[in-house]
Amino acid sequence: NLTIVWHRRDLRIADNPALDQAIAQNGATIGIFIFDPQILESKAEDQTTGAGQVDFMLGCLQELQAAYQDLGSDLLFFHGDPAKTIRDIAQTLNAARVFFNQDVEPFARERDRQACAALAEIGVEVKSFLDLALHAPDAISTNSGTPYKVYTPFWRSWIAKAKPQPLPSPAKLVGLDGRTSESRSIEAKAIALPRLADLGFSCDQDIPTAGIKAAEQCLQDFCDTNKIFNYQQERNFPANPGTSMLSPHLRFGTIGIRQVWQATVAATEHIRSDEEKAGLQTWRQELAWREFYQHVLFHFPDLATGAYRSQMQVFEWDDDEAKFAAWCKGETGYPIVDAAMRQLNQTGWMHNRCRMIVASFLTKDLIINWQWGERYFMEKLVDGDQAANNGGWQWSASSGMDPKPLRIFNPASQARKYDKDGEYIRRWIPELAGLTTAELLSGNITPQQCKERGYPMPIVDHAVQQREFKRRYGEAKESL
Ligand code: FAD
Repeated sequence: NLTIVWHRRDLRIADNPALDQAIAQNGATIGIFIFDPQILESKAEDQTTGAGQVDFMLGCLQELQAAYQDLGSDLLFFHGDPAKTIRDIAQTLNAARVFFNQDVEPFARERDRQACAALAEIGVEVKSFLDLALHAPDAISTNSGTPYKVYTPFWRSWIAKAKPQPLPSPAKLVGLDGRTSESRSIEAKAIALPRLADLGFSCDQDIPTAGIKAAEQCLQDFCDTNKIFNYQQERNFPANPGTSMLSPHLRFGTIGIRQVWQATVAATEHIRSDEEKAGLQTWRQELAWREFYQHVLFHFPDLATGAYRSQMQVFEWDDDEAKFAAWCKGETGYPIVDAAMRQLNQTGWMHNRCRMIVASFLTKDLIINWQWGERYFMEKLVDGDQAANNGGWQWSASSGMDPKPLRIFNPASQARKYDKDGEYIRRWIPELAGLTTAELLSGNITPQQCKERGYPMPIVDHAVQQREFKRRYGEAKESL
């Protein structure tokens, strides 16, 4: 009476619906994780995997295995095509069932469809559960039953719904009986947790701490230090992030979204002012953005491979390789853009305000296809998540569902507003540290100053490019 829990992006024990239901079967429960070469080698058209992300994941897996072992069972690792591998594992162990938590990405859904079919062939029961979001994609819809395409009405409907409670953390698990022949043959097939280099990666980023404990610490810090209450005022200043830094943990499920929601409910008890109430509500709105993008990707899977708006499907991009390389390296000559790209390259995380600035710059100033940026982000972001990333890029490129389409950020005025002391720029571009704040934020560092400091001159003129983008945007509209 064995249940196998197939972990993918739910790398935790507590508040885990698939594991919770497996335990309820009153038999043995083991966890498995399959390293999928399609994902690791970025083989599918819409899949890009970066070293920082894999490094973080390996840290989470190590901790998850230890947690399984502490409770009396184990997490076993395998490598190969998921459908074939899981069928083989279930057969070898003579398992009664396989449980897993659902995903919304088109690639993952197709993988799961294949795995379910392979398990059905050998008569193994399969069940999947909602875990990624508080509400399933079909649970939030317009009055006419269609999915929302606009965030604000989605939010109204989402916030009005009762939220599920976190699930209890298991106190113990029943593992395999190590003396049986099934146990011995599965051990022969399982692999040890690979090192990063074994998977063909090397990581030079200083990534956030992985794992369940780090996730809980992030959530606790965010709530205990009142950042949650100050969120509305503080969330836009990248020098001193007033945000939770939970994104890599929500990406890999080292914390459950029900537990995160519960923390917001607990925080409501301590609200002392309208501003604090607004701070908490604004943060909840971010959690709703996350679910909005998951729901739209589920309902409109074509978003993963192209622009939603037809006008942007025919838009004429420049796609200049040299300018793209300068953007990637943080050498565009626009300090706020370069600071942000260097933060991304060095740490695997970038502040949300800066994600919007660099995405606008790539698409509206360099007139480079947003999908290049989307891919680069997936290579470098530890929190790289197809739904949020694609949603963010389509929003920035004016190619998505957003009703206010043409949004062009002026990098200099963004810097003046959100990095008014130049602290963020100085931190990431040390060669400019000696300039005065007025010089840094002038949007006009002189050629002499650039030369002396080995910093590039702006590679494009914002005013010129903005006009050019608008012209092409109008042209694309007329051509339809
Ligand atoms: P907080 O401000 O503390 O927010 C809490 C959580 O809400 C985040 O951890 C995240 O899960 C979610 N969230 C917040 N803002 C958004 C948003 N705009 N859209 C969706 N979810 C949100 N987020 C990712 O998790 N992965 C990505 O790959 C990603 N790519 C992005 C690309 C672009 C071009 C843009 C503009 C945004 C992107 N975001 C992405 C959204 C957002 O920038 C990050 O979620 C946020 O910066 C993470 O920091 P935090 O955990 O401190 O967020």
